[in-house]
Amino acid sequence: MLVQALGGLTGRCPVRILIAEDDPTTLLMLERAAKDWQYEVVSVRDGNAAWDVLRSADSPPLALLDWMMPALSGIELCRKVRQESEAPFIYLVLLTGKVTTRDIVQGMESGADDYLRKPFDRQELKVRLRAGQRIVELHETLRIQATRDTLTGLWNRRMILDILGRECARAAREGTSVGVIMADLDHFKQANDSLGHLGGDAVLVEASRRMNSVLRPYDAMGRYGGEEFLIVLPGCDQAGTEAAAQRMRQVVQEAEIATPAGVIPITVSLGAVAGEGTTIDAEALIRTADLALYRAKRAGRNRVEMANSSSPGPSLNLGDAQLEIAASSPSPCPV
Ligand SMILES: [Mg+2]
Repeated sequence: MLVQALGGLTGRCPVRILIAEDDPTTLLMLERAAKDWQYEVVSVRDGNAAWDVLRSADSPPLALLDWMMPALSGIELCRKVRQESEAPFIYLVLLTGKVTTRDIVQGMESGADDYLRKPFDRQELKVRLRAGQRIVELHETLRIQATRDTLTGLWNRRMILDILGRECARAAREGTSVGVIMADLDHFKQANDSLGHLGGDAVLVEASRRMNSVLRPYDAMGRYGGEEFLIVLPGCDQAGTEAAAQRMRQVVQEAEIATPAGVIPITVSLGAVAGEGTTIDAEALIRTADLALYRAKRAGRNRVEMANSSSPGPSLNLGDAQLEIAASSPSPCPV
């Protein structure tokens, strides 16, 4: 997913641009120019249609907006994008016949990043879009750095906790459930010692890739700590959560992992819980899953332990039998 996110930066994916212009001749010229420069063009003829595109989470990151358009003007669109859009960042260029300083100030104050005079000059348009593209790419790089784990490309700790909090709130609101899994690679320190840090890194990358590969597209997996992962499964009950955890366990152990320093068998232990009801609490779920993980380790590793979500109180102690634990896999421990 990191590779996918970086696609636009490495030039492999064409950059998308929205062109909103009500004059057919100007629109045609803009479209032709943008296509000549390898942009993927989305074009609309009025302000409402432009807003429908800009408000969506997958809006093009670049937009060229005519100032005077039916329904919503370019200025109004700029304001709405800055105040209401869910898209990460959109670079907005206003296209206008208005050229007084006052007009330009008004345009930039509404949230535009740049403006271009009509009739437009092709070369000027080209370099201004380039400048916009650089800003968009910078935003994207910063966004990835702030949300992703650099080594594995998974969500980082802060993001996966955000996602868990959001999913818990949603499950409570909608009366659904959310599955939480804590996964920890078995004997990872030994692997690190025998393979060196590069080898250890390769193990982390491959094991997390395998675990992620058996999840649904809307599940979220993050690196919680060194070799520990937190997985959030929206809508999953106990049975669904356990099944997912078992798939993850299975896919990690089914083949040895090749690293630059040699081949090594790896297994993973998982503790899991499903929260439901109106009082789902993210912290309690993590604590409960962590406790189940601890039990999986103690019971021999390479196994899944389910915790009953009905008693995730704050007074849990490691090792006591407050929770209903169901051992749910055989426990060979090859490492
Ligand atoms: Mg117009």
